[in-house]
Amino acid sequence: MMKLIEGKPIAEAVYEECEAEFEKLKAAGHLPGLAVVLVGDDPASRAYVGSKERKCQELGMHSVKIEKPADISQEELHAVIEELNADDAIHGILVQLPLPGDLNEDEVILRIDPAKDVDGLHPINLGKLAMDDSTGFAPCTPSGCQRMLIESGIDTTGKHVVIVGRSLLVGKSLALLLMGKGKGGNATVTVAHSRTQDLPSLTRQADILVAAIGIPHFIGPDHVKDGAVVIDVGINRIDDPTAKKGSRLVGDVDFDAVAGKCSAITPVPGGVGRMTIAMLMANTIRACRLRAGL
Ligand code: NAP
Repeated sequence: MMKLIEGKPIAEAVYEECEAEFEKLKAAGHLPGLAVVLVGDDPASRAYVGSKERKCQELGMHSVKIEKPADISQEELHAVIEELNADDAIHGILVQLPLPGDLNEDEVILRIDPAKDVDGLHPINLGKLAMDDSTGFAPCTPSGCQRMLIESGIDTTGKHVVIVGRSLLVGKSLALLLMGKGKGGNATVTVAHSRTQDLPSLTRQADILVAAIGIPHFIGPDHVKDGAVVIDVGINRIDDPTAKKGSRLVGDVDFDAVAGKCSAITPVPGGVGRMTIAMLMANTIRACRLRAGL
């Protein structure tokens, strides 16, 4: 029997933990605060920022949205970050990526106080991730994927995980998490990318296959071993004249063609995407707790 790993109930469990932590912090006189910086007017980025803001409000957190035009200079953007670093009401800072134009993302991320880097992309936090030091913040989408595996009772110990995609935001960070020695780790991880040769023969060796590519329906039945677990990180909008909006979201996995071969699979939408914001909220509440010394 194939198991559908839905993001909603797992994200709800994370939110319940967040609420319990939040109440403790509030009782001790601390209000977690998240600042999201949006540069330019990309509709997808705006939609993501809107969902983050709504979730902060639902949880009763302090939330600040800072919008800047696409022609902001690198120095002006650094000044925004420095102001947020100095703001005691802000515990988490997230710069919505990608940044438009020639803005240098790495330079911006380097300026975020690592203790407020709830997106987990500062080199200090990525270094801690590589060192198996759990005092840092892990990037939200990879930690959401790991949490889905844990909550679904899928033991990663000794399993061969193949991750297709090597971005820092997803593939590379997830590899570090899954090969780490903590809960939901101890896997043997292979990371594939656009230069990998004979990808299907590699992915067919995976007990757990993760797709983080950005190409709709890229992973088909030829890529998947019978009984594998498939985690689809992809979020791609494709045209669909039968849909109300004329388009719909699909993953990097051809779900209909692959699901029958899997022991478990995440859907898109309704899978990993649900987890990213939940892990962001959890990281922000933890940042507040750590600053409060609780
Ligand atoms: P990205 O930075 O564009 O990275 C894509 C990766 O896929 C790269 O490593 C690339 O290889 C690899 N790739 C591209 N074509 C390939 C091919 N033909 N064969 C093998 N590998 C190939 O994308 P990303 O930020 O990691 O995002 C990946 C997907 O996840 C996107 O659909 C994105 O929308 C989605 N996403 C979802 C969430 C969520 O909350 N669920 C969060 C973030 C991203 P090279 O490095 O060699 O170019």
